[in-house]
Amino acid sequence: MVARAGIPIIDTRFVTVGGGIGSFVTVDYLRIYGVPASDITVLTQLETPWSSYEYLTRVSQIPRGERLRSDSKSTPDNIWGFPSYAVREALAAKSVKDFVRPLWNVMTEPILSDYYTPRAGQAFESMEREHDRIGYPQCVRKGQVRMIRRRKEGGYFTILTPPVGATPTRRLAYRSPYVHVAIGYPGLKLLPDLQRYREYYRDPSKVVNAYEPHEHVYQQLALRPGTVVIRGGGIVASRVLQRLIDDRDRLGLQTQIVHVFRTYVTGAHGPSIFMRRKGGDGWAYQGFNYPKSVWGGQLKAKIRGLEGEERAEAYKLMGGTNTPVRKLWQSQLARGRAEGWYRTVVGEVTELRPGRGNQGVVSLLKTQQGPVELYSDFVIDCTGLEADIREHRVLADLMDHSGAGRNPVGRLDVDRNFEVIGTRSQPGKMYASGSATLGGYFPGVDTFLGLQIAAQEICDDLAKLGFCQRFGVLASTKQWWHWARHRKI
Ligand SMILES: Cc1cc2nc3c(=O)[nH]c(=O)nc-3n(C[C@H](O)[C@H](O)[C@H](O)COP(=O)(O)OP(=O)(O)OC[C@H]3O[C@@H](n4cnc5c(N)ncnc54)[C@H](O)[C@@H]3O)c2cc1C
Repeated sequence: MVARAGIPIIDTRFVTVGGGIGSFVTVDYLRIYGVPASDITVLTQLETPWSSYEYLTRVSQIPRGERLRSDSKSTPDNIWGFPSYAVREALAAKSVKDFVRPLWNVMTEPILSDYYTPRAGQAFESMEREHDRIGYPQCVRKGQVRMIRRRKEGGYFTILTPPVGATPTRRLAYRSPYVHVAIGYPGLKLLPDLQRYREYYRDPSKVVNAYEPHEHVYQQLALRPGTVVIRGGGIVASRVLQRLIDDRDRLGLQTQIVHVFRTYVTGAHGPSIFMRRKGGDGWAYQGFNYPKSVWGGQLKAKIRGLEGEERAEAYKLMGGTNTPVRKLWQSQLARGRAEGWYRTVVGEVTELRPGRGNQGVVSLLKTQQGPVELYSDFVIDCTGLEADIREHRVLADLMDHSGAGRNPVGRLDVDRNFEVIGTRSQPGKMYASGSATLGGYFPGVDTFLGLQIAAQEICDDLAKLGFCQRFGVLASTKQWWHWARHRKI
């Protein structure tokens, strides 16, 4: 079929689809495990592996100078996590104070200090160094992947549409025994009322999702006083609030903030003393998006052994929207409450419509006390980013034609070694990691460290199949030394 369609076939040994941070860390592991760059093909539309992530963090108010959510040893540029970001920040310091601060932070967290988190810029710059060291650009082929299909003879065809004019044909077929899928978020999920408002009133500027560019909101608030409705109780809501309050303080603005919580958390909650999460003032508090033990402790071991409904239940228990407790955010909101410019409303928004004379937006809410109408100049929706996996064309095709299925929480079903269950094409294998696979045997999968743990499982599995060498203590120590000396591999 491929030949009949006139699609040129290119042979390679390992294809990774996506080219974001999930692909990058997988290629990093493979290169460190000794696979030559010429055997790896990254199919992507991105300029750099962090482009998509940097875009999302920037629009959701984490520019390069601000701090991320993950910890000091979640280092996508360094598979050993040592030296950690905190140590590297200290070593780069130009004053004693700046040297001591990150070290003191990691030594006393989370009791005396908030968790240490690296600056976004540090993560991007260090990834850039590693990307150059491992010869990542040599592996990259630009374009959009249309589908991945099993070959009758084993392995897979990955069909790519290259940029217009880049190749004589409109499609290319990459033939490989191994494929890895890391396509990030299947799409942006707009809440139904938001979607209806957008479609009906054709107004993309007053009601925005925090993952869309919305700098105009802050600019207009700087020109004249206004009210903003914030929806959501996760870290993005915290960031957006920080930006609004920072601007208020810095520019002397009069911005009023109304925060809508669908579920209002009043205190610590959880089923038992061992599974309690702090909370208060509407928020559920947690340092990272899951309890820390999912990356390497008892929860990692426990979830690895759960199937079906039991696993879905465990996810429900551990997951849910939460945000870290940070002293700055606590004090900003306490000040807002005391001075009356930050208030909360508990309820569910059922409809959005333009205000009188097309001025502002009216949010109609269903609350316990009855219907409420909220007027504001802007609505910033800080809820979910993730759409159903079927909305991604490649994943839908995998489910329709290659035997892939859904896990207990509805995403792509992968095994303990991240093989996509049902897609085996002997002697080839297909793997997947990242947000599309959440709900599997390893919950931390959509994080830097989680993507690295997945990459290590994948490489260990590939080593068993003879694709790369087994990686023992000596090889690891030697490779760390190369990393530390920034020696190219
Ligand atoms: C705002 C935000 C902040 C986060 N902060 C942290 C943090 O502090 N710490 C942490 O550990 N994790 C964090 N994460 C989670 C996670 O680590 C990142 O989202 C990470 O970028 C996920 O990597 P990925 O490869 O799965 O997806 P991405 O980096 O998004 O890359 C996937 C790429 O695949 C490409 N793609 C999709 N379909 C196709 C196709 N058909 N053909 C070709 N290419 C395609 C897309 O261009 C996409 O960019 C954060 C996530 C978000 C959204």
